[in-house]
Amino acid sequence: MDMAPLIDPFARPIRYLRVSVTDRCDFRCTYCMAEHMTFLPKADLLTLEELDRLCSGFIGLGVRKLRVTGGEPLVRRGILSFFQAMGRHLQSGALEELTLTTNGSQLARFAGDLAGCGVRRVNVSLDTLDPAKFAEITRWGRLPQVLEGIAAAKAAGLRVKINAVALKGFNEVELFGLVDWCAAEGHDLTFIEVMPMGDMEDRLAQYWPLSDLRARLAERFTLTDLAERTGGPARYLRLEETGQKIGLITPLTHNFCESCNRVRLTCTGELFPCLGQEQATDLRAPLRASADPAVLEDAIRAAIAKKPKGHDFDYSRQRVAGQMTRHMSHTGG
Ligand code: SAM
Ligand code: SF4
Repeated sequence: MDMAPLIDPFARPIRYLRVSVTDRCDFRCTYCMAEHMTFLPKADLLTLEELDRLCSGFIGLGVRKLRVTGGEPLVRRGILSFFQAMGRHLQSGALEELTLTTNGSQLARFAGDLAGCGVRRVNVSLDTLDPAKFAEITRWGRLPQVLEGIAAAKAAGLRVKINAVALKGFNEVELFGLVDWCAAEGHDLTFIEVMPMGDMEDRLAQYWPLSDLRARLAERFTLTDLAERTGGPARYLRLEETGQKIGLITPLTHNFCESCNRVRLTCTGELFPCLGQEQATDLRAPLRASADPAVLEDAIRAAIAKKPKGHDFDYSRQRVAGQMTRHMSHTGG
């Protein structure tokens, strides 16, 4: 087998795979899902064994960082066995990092076991610390359960990063509340601009540009831009007064594509080489057609060869251009 690492047509090495293990979720965040969702039939989903084969294939081709997402990854039945399976790549040194993005609802139950599999960090999505607003934005979520999960993660020794979607007129008033809470708890904090995914609500009305959020932070703190980049859409700044590092994910106000090192795999085995483009390659068919790793490898290489230069999101001219019809929960945010 040719073990040359994956390099896309724009000379970007592919080191980072985000894998969505389910499209289901126990929440219904308004910017992510409709209240009444039709989920995929079970037969369409990759089994946990198939997910193992696929992810191991990518790791064999040079992927060093694996992020498990969804839907809500921790509601997938048997998911711990998948984390255990991926843990073997950490032990062998093939994988540098195994991590997940979760809504936190099941963390109280899973945090210790995840740490045991070699997970060191977890991203928890939390947009507000107000229980009523939390119930409003997640529709089905309950804040105390999530806070308990976050506390369990911390107790298990996992580093926690809070991801908050910046929502105009919703959590604007909590900007400093969230910053202060994260400082007190020792959590990292990243804000995400709302993206034009799905088809439910008017994203423009919810759009709070992070340039504005940054200006608000600057009213209270001295900000220093940090040079570090992760190959993804996040930029970091430091609040000099507290030493806190704040991430800003601005897919719409900054073009981050030039350093993109990542691809996304859906729970049905479609590979999206770019979050903002519709083209995908089906890897489930070759996976199910043959047990030969070489067949899978060829399919992965062919998919990476189609990675586009950049995405098409654009909120300018007060309309949402490049709007995606699929939901974030399908591709895995
Ligand atoms: N259920 C898990 C969670 O909520 O963390 C993982 C999947 S969720 C789709 C991943 C991330 O995508 C979350 O941080 C969520 O806030 C974010 N997200 C969902 N829809 C979004 C949108 N329209 N714009 C920006 N971020 C979005
Ligand atoms: Fe579920 Fe995460 Fe989407 Fe919220 S953002 S509905 S928690 S998948």
